[in-house]
Amino acid sequence: MSEQKYVYFFGEGKAEGSAEMRDELGGKGANLAEMTNLGLPVPPGYIVSTKACAYYYQHDGKYPDGLEEQVEENLTKLEKAMGKKLGDPENPLLVSVRSGAPVSMPGMMDTILNLGLNDETIKGLIKQTKNERFAYDAYRRFIMMFSDVVLAGDEGRPNYRPELKRHRFEELFDEVKKEKGVSLDTDVDAEGLKEVVSRFKEHFKKAYGEEFPSDPREQLRFATNAVFESWNSPRANSFRKIKSIPDNLGTAVNVQAMVFGNMGDDCGTGVIFTRDAITGDNVLYGNYLGNAQGEDVVAGIRQSMPILEMKAVMPVLYDELQEHAQRLEKHYRAIQDIEFTVEKGRLFILQTRSGVPTATGRAVIKAFVDMAEDGLLGKGEAGRQQAVLEIQPDHVDQLLHPQIDPKAKAKPIAKGVNASPGAAVGTVVFTPDDAVSEAKAGKNVILVRPETTPDDVHGFAPAQGILTQIGGATSHAALVARGMGKPCVAGCGQISIDLASKKFTIGDIVVKEGDTITIDGTKGNVYLGKVPTIPPEMTDELKKLLSWADSFRRLGVWTNADYPRDAKVARDFGAEGIGLCRTEHMFMETERLPVVQDMILAKTAEERQTALDRLLPFQRDDFIGIFRVMDGLPVIIRLIDPPLHEFLPAHDKLLKDVTKFSMANHQFGGVFAEELKEKEDMLRAVESMREMNPMLGLRGCRLGLVMPEIIEMQVRAIITAACMVKKEGVDVHPEIMIPLIGHVNELKVTKDKLVEVAKQAMEEQKTTVDYKFGTMIEIPRAALTADDVAEVADFFSFGTNDLTQTVFGISRDDAEGKFLMRYVEQGILERNPFQTLDRDGVGKLIKMAVENGRKTNPKLEVGICGEHGGDPSSIEFCHQVGLNYVSCSPFRVPIARLAAAHARLKE
Ligand code: PEP
Ligand code: MG
Repeated sequence: MSEQKYVYFFGEGKAEGSAEMRDELGGKGANLAEMTNLGLPVPPGYIVSTKACAYYYQHDGKYPDGLEEQVEENLTKLEKAMGKKLGDPENPLLVSVRSGAPVSMPGMMDTILNLGLNDETIKGLIKQTKNERFAYDAYRRFIMMFSDVVLAGDEGRPNYRPELKRHRFEELFDEVKKEKGVSLDTDVDAEGLKEVVSRFKEHFKKAYGEEFPSDPREQLRFATNAVFESWNSPRANSFRKIKSIPDNLGTAVNVQAMVFGNMGDDCGTGVIFTRDAITGDNVLYGNYLGNAQGEDVVAGIRQSMPILEMKAVMPVLYDELQEHAQRLEKHYRAIQDIEFTVEKGRLFILQTRSGVPTATGRAVIKAFVDMAEDGLLGKGEAGRQQAVLEIQPDHVDQLLHPQIDPKAKAKPIAKGVNASPGAAVGTVVFTPDDAVSEAKAGKNVILVRPETTPDDVHGFAPAQGILTQIGGATSHAALVARGMGKPCVAGCGQISIDLASKKFTIGDIVVKEGDTITIDGTKGNVYLGKVPTIPPEMTDELKKLLSWADSFRRLGVWTNADYPRDAKVARDFGAEGIGLCRTEHMFMETERLPVVQDMILAKTAEERQTALDRLLPFQRDDFIGIFRVMDGLPVIIRLIDPPLHEFLPAHDKLLKDVTKFSMANHQFGGVFAEELKEKEDMLRAVESMREMNPMLGLRGCRLGLVMPEIIEMQVRAIITAACMVKKEGVDVHPEIMIPLIGHVNELKVTKDKLVEVAKQAMEEQKTTVDYKFGTMIEIPRAALTADDVAEVADFFSFGTNDLTQTVFGISRDDAEGKFLMRYVEQGILERNPFQTLDRDGVGKLIKMAVENGRKTNPKLEVGICGEHGGDPSSIEFCHQVGLNYVSCSPFRVPIARLAAAHARLKE
């Protein structure tokens, strides 16, 4: 039996792996192999596969048989390729060690550079480079990084050694700078750096209890284990949870020969995107930093040069870089995010990965649309299909984020880098933990940090936006925020953060924890207080993309809209109908609520009718507005659904009012008798309506059966409105929907009554309209007897909010906060079933109901109007079970159009 292969070599124009081997080589490793095979100037190295990491976790930190021998073999190959040897005091090989998971996890895993340095090999490095300063600089970086990444451990874990954290070494470095009277790292001379190295080693020994490991092979072993361990660090776990990345993938270890960007003025390093990562324009985007190592660019310590300026300063290199960038983009058919280094005038490509996760939604959409039109993704329709498939719902969602209202007069108090688009308003917090707890308490927060590190990731999700003092467009904060679609202003150097007293200052402006600010991640501005925002706009590329998506999808996309203004927004976004108009929302409007309350509290049929007669014109005019906006398209209007007590004041509030007025009345000799009686009546009514289980009580179709006058008024309003707009020339298609039926007879009895009302309304209007009559399926019994129900209904609309509630038997109003999210954390449920349709349970019922319903009524129109109608995974399911349409909130319409196309194209 041949031995399992764990180690893969790349270098000298040939690699053992390729991009297809992502699962084993990790994203970075697969790309290094692929780039090598493409003939790009990649420094050679080898990859320890994710299989070794998986073995390591399954066997208590042991290596599999053969791994050490394979590493040794490949190390020898690498030494040969570079003409250097690990640990050689004459001409030492130095390597970088990086992690690389199969799925992109920007900034999550740790990198060690300059591995192989010790007191002996540094002599060789000085000899080879003739640059003592550079060598000691590399050495001090290595000691700091190795200590921080390999040995400092993670906060809250037993292996945690805070004294080995990076910032402790930086403090020591700062001490030396102070003693030397310089402020910049680059101003410290070789002697100074030698002193820094010596202090670092001394500090290490004190903190660790042993000398700094000097054997390069031991360093390599330590580093490999650290990469394996970092897969399981709290921050990596947290990132995976947010991104739903499985825990058992494991990471690969990439060991690669070092090349140096900090050997002098003919050296440098940079990070670029093949297209503008903010706008998607077809120009290189990123920064170049002369005489520096990669980490300097990301850390933003020194001001780097925008890549377009490099064109003027180093035209030859720029052209070469551009050529490689284009080749990579063409090869990978996506924006690339490339790291490169120039060593003594020679360009090396260190890394390429998809730039899609860290570019803005706007950029991704523009880039793929342009690439499809330029034929870079395939010919004609194939290219357009590819573009549609590459662009994810989140990208579209980002573009639909609010922006600062251009009419707002607000003046920014500071400006930083526009790192991730969209405007966000919230109160300031300074720690990720505070972001979590304040958001839990229902606040909108902006997380403000000097800079962010992977330790801060759990504070991103609950925050509305992120503001940092240091770093730029490729900083950690920028990458993570863009990936999550959170507005972010990064590198806002004008603010000065005082973490201890939880405030920041800009000149004499002081912003304390809890103060409200607005950030504009599109422009990079920071404002004091709440600045008005406007709803987002569709770009030309987005419109084009969605029109392509429309040509591929089968599923219709309708919207849930209660008002003409919402209907208009949705129609502009491409909605093809209204799938749910919740009429009770109209009852809640200030001028109507008292009339609704009169209607509920009426003691006689006449009193009730009087109130209903007053409500009818309101409802009729609402429908007229909606029908006009939806000219030519179907409009499903749902009759009253919630329990009536929802329209009355809360019981405990009424109790307090009665006590208050009763005391006041007593004190002031009966002056408040009238108010008291009114509150007492209301209290009595509320008490008479109280139910132990209101969600399973007198609501939905049951209300109409017990108190038919309300729904009769509604149907009269709908049909009258439809007749009136028809006379104006509007092409009107009303559909009347009955909620919450469990038994077909509920529908039958209701329908019989309402058909009469509709007939009467048409007679009064002296015209007729075609209308449909259907029902929501949101009770399991209705789904189970769908064949019977379909005989009476023209359409079904799955109310999956209630259907999920009733199928699981868990409350849609309380479960998430009480236990449901814990279920998700513990893996009892994979996802929150109120967000993403539970295909195995609720979905099974839907599938069955669609099939059985169509058996007895082949013309049955079927859709979904629960929140799931805007969720991409649920939309895919709706496509698969053959629904006619999904209906979602107006701002989800473009996302649903894309998701519906994805479902069809993936078929
Ligand atoms: C549903 O239950 O899914 C639904 C759309 O109705 P509502 O949310 O109004 O109960
Ligand atoms: Mg419902």
